Amino acid sequence: MPRPIIEADDCSACGICVDACPEGVLELVGDVAVAVNDDDCTACAACMEECPMGAIPEIEED
Ligand code: SF4
Ligand code: SF4
Repeated sequence: MPRPIIEADDCSACGICVDACPEGVLELVGDVAVAVNDDDCTACAACMEECPMGAIPEIEED
């Protein structure tokens, strides 16, 4: 299953990826984005493309 890799140190908690994800995978938890529903990730890469901080460098596939 794919899941987004989020670099917590680079995340500004802007929430753009939360809004960009069509599957509701991401939520802000405290001051960082977290893939709370990563089973629903389709690897569309919208979060990665929209993040202004480059904090989602890849979608991991396993
Ligand atoms: S790759 Fe797509 S489905 Fe997966 S978390 Fe990012 S925006 Fe959501
Ligand atoms: S778009 Fe990037 S900086 Fe903004 S909350 Fe998501 S991971 Fe963090």
